[in-house]
Amino acid sequence: MLFKQINKLSNVFLKKIDKIEVVPNKCLKVRAVTSSCSGCVDVCPVSSIQIEVDSIEISSNCINCGICTSVCPTNALKWNHPPLIQLFNKIVRLSEEGQAVYIACSSSINSDCKANVVEVPCLGMLPQELWMSIGMNTSQLRIIYDSKHCRGCINSTGEEVFLKQLKSAESNINKVFHMTSSFDYLNSKNEEIENHNRRRFLSFLLEEVKETNTITVKEVLEVSTPLSPFDKFNRYHTVLSDLEEVAEEVSEMKNTLVDRFLDDTVIHTDKRAFLFAEFKRYPELQEKLAFLIPNIDNSCTRCGACAFLCPTDALVMDGENIILATNKCVSCGLCEEICYEKHIHMNLKKGLFFKEKFVYLL
Ligand code: SF4
Ligand code: SF4
Repeated sequence: MLFKQINKLSNVFLKKIDKIEVVPNKCLKVRAVTSSCSGCVDVCPVSSIQIEVDSIEISSNCINCGICTSVCPTNALKWNHPPLIQLFNKIVRLSEEGQAVYIACSSSINSDCKANVVEVPCLGMLPQELWMSIGMNTSQLRIIYDSKHCRGCINSTGEEVFLKQLKSAESNINKVFHMTSSFDYLNSKNEEIENHNRRRFLSFLLEEVKETNTITVKEVLEVSTPLSPFDKFNRYHTVLSDLEEVAEEVSEMKNTLVDRFLDDTVIHTDKRAFLFAEFKRYPELQEKLAFLIPNIDNSCTRCGACAFLCPTDALVMDGENIILATNKCVSCGLCEEICYEKHIHMNLKKGLFFKEKFVYLL
């Protein structure tokens, strides 16, 4: 018992040390070696990422810029220090205080700057969903961006990823973010600088406590990590055969299998979570935005490969049927890629589609 508690505690600290959380079972390439995804490898500025058959190796030259986390569709690589939701909350809180809020990469920040700054390792680590949420919920936001500075930076791919994510967010929410190459209020009175630094330190402490708390709660609740396709396959058959034994007596228990998979704790990604939060706040966005969602032809042979390989457990086999748990699908397209006989096609669907908790694709 004591050992278990100590183990949980040490996990909390280890997770805080790792800025990037790595969950190989969610990686498209680990789940299906034929996947064409190489997003993280392509953008890593120091070539630190190696995808193996059953693992993701990050070498010690990783500079923790976080750019890989913004392009990974499934959260196999996830920024954890602080989690994106804490960055978002901080930006909104500062913005509600009525002053200009700046987002800047660490290398652009002057130590005696007194402005409201939210510092990130690289602007390219922020995904478009976060920019959308920030854009919808703040005013007076400024991004400190200077192309010349980016070109001299070790994060050589950061600028391209940043501009791509930002532009797509701008076009989705019809808003242009304010960019500036320097802070407006630098180096004013010493007293103000001191007060600001004190506020910054206190706010840093508060964020650290919150973050540790979030990770501790996850550990205590033992939030599950996704199963490998093989474990998932075994589990499916174990549960299925268990159910078959009692099926005659309790025929209605058949639905339990599907319910268990649909209700599993794994998770839509933090990027999708931002979108769903905005859908709630601004329902009109559901009409405007469209997402690639799988569609399955009736000629499908029900081999089940898509359901076992789907990295977010969005597809569930129910005997002859295949169900899509809409809010778990991240539009990664792996199911379309791995379907040997090409029975799956990704089609654009409006955000309204997510209103249904699940749909029968077959
Ligand atoms: S971007 Fe994510 S899913 Fe794609 S290869 Fe990298 S870790 Fe895997
Ligand atoms: S259903 Fe298909 S597109 Fe959606 S998350 Fe699963 S594999 Fe990716």
